[in-house]
This record gives sequence, structure tokens and C-alpha cells, in this order.
Amino acid sequence: MDRPGVRMIIMGRQGAGKGTQATRLAAACSVPHISTGDMLRAAVREGTDLGLRAKAIMDAGDLVPDEVMIGIVGERLDRDDANRGWILDGFPRTVGQAEALADITAQAPVDVVVELVVPNEIVVERLSARRTCDSCGTIYSVGDAAIADGVCPKCGGTPVQRDDDKPEAILHRLEVYERDTSPLLGHYRSLDLLESVDGLGSEDEVHARILAVVDARVASDPS
Ligand code: AMP
Repeated sequence: MDRPGVRMIIMGRQGAGKGTQATRLAAACSVPHISTGDMLRAAVREGTDLGLRAKAIMDAGDLVPDEVMIGIVGERLDRDDANRGWILDGFPRTVGQAEALADITAQAPVDVVVELVVPNEIVVERLSARRTCDSCGTIYSVGDAAIADGVCPKCGGTPVQRDDDKPEAILHRLEVYERDTSPLLGHYRSLDLLESVDGLGSEDEVHARILAVVDARVASDPS
């Protein structure tokens, strides 16, 4: 393991590339990628109580109640593989969740919050074109050669359009982001944890930008 672990939150509008970048970064830093959206979608697929409660809320693009999300994330961060660090993607999404996260991580606090900055018009285009494997959650775009045969090359599942990536839900989710989640940016800026990174460009370019800010933060922090 070349890089030290990191405790990081990745933020940005839906479609900014958080999932893709968090997956790569998690591999680069050997820490788990913890996506609350992926955890909820897995619960829906498995038909658990949580999945049954969350499905309609998610399809409408609304937020699952804070107490539910805080419970899920608290348990996940307690697992052994989260000892070296983690990348949280999709959490926190409200001030209440951010306050709870600060309590949960009081002994080993967040190192950095990366905001991926992508303009609204671009994320609407990206979300409309997004296809997500219904089995492993890998993200593709509608024209990708890799899924021309309608099969996920990683697991044999089927890339589909998420219900919440349909046009009505996209606009609503972006409004929810502005209203409930964007205030967290100011909160983390005031704690000097926020790094805003340009999310436009190739996947490799954005990855390199994020690694540069993470390396600078973690290297300058002896803890
Ligand atoms: P995502 O894949 O992060 O866009 O999440 C998909 C959906 O899952 C969201 O639109 C919400 O309905 C729900 N969700 C994911 N994370 C959270 C969270 N931290 N708080 C509330 N709802 C969430």
C-alpha cells in the first residue's frame, strides 16, 4: 500500500462523477468506497425491510430519513475494513447527517471533503444518458461500446436506466441537492476541510486532480 489511508467525503451534484471517481480513489488509497445510494439500491434488490421502505422515496428522488441513514452509515464505519479510512459518497446529505457524522467520527475525523464541480446543464445530460448495471452497480453511458450488447462486461448483469435518472426525477433531485445538501459546502469550507475540484475533463484528468488535493491534505496531516 503506497498511499496512507484517508477519511474523505466526496460531494457534488448527482451526475458530477462522484461514484466513478470514488471507486478509483478507493482503489488508489486501499480504503472502502461507501456509497449510501449503492447500499440502498442493494437493499431494494434484496427486498429487505430497508429496501421496501426506501424504494418509493428513492424513485421519487426524495431523501430517506436522516435517522435511517445515520444508522446505516454508523454500522458501516464500524466494520474492520474502515479502520484505515473510507470514502463516503452520497453521505452526508443534510446538516443533520453531517452533525451525526461528526459525532460518529469524533476519534478519527474527516481529513478532506472534495466537491466535484460540474455545471447543471452537463449533469442533466450525463444523468439522462447514464445506465447502471442492475447487478453490480457499475456505471455506463448509453452509447458505451462496452455495453453495446446490453450486458455488463463485469458481471453479466443488465445495464438499465435507474428510475431516478428519468427526467422528472432528475430535476427534483437537483433541487433537493441545492436545498438540503449544498449548505454543507459552506459548513465544510468554514472548517477548512473543503477542496473544490473541477469535475470536467476525462476520468483520468479528474482522478489526477483529486489525488493531488488528497495527497496534499493527507501528507500535511501527521495523524
Ligand atoms: P445516489 O445514488 O447517491 O444519488 O442516491 C440515490 C438515492 O438514494 C437518493 O436520491 C436518495 O433517495 C437515497 N439516498 C442516498 N443517500 C442518501 C442520504 N445520505 N440521505 C438520504 N437519502 C439518501
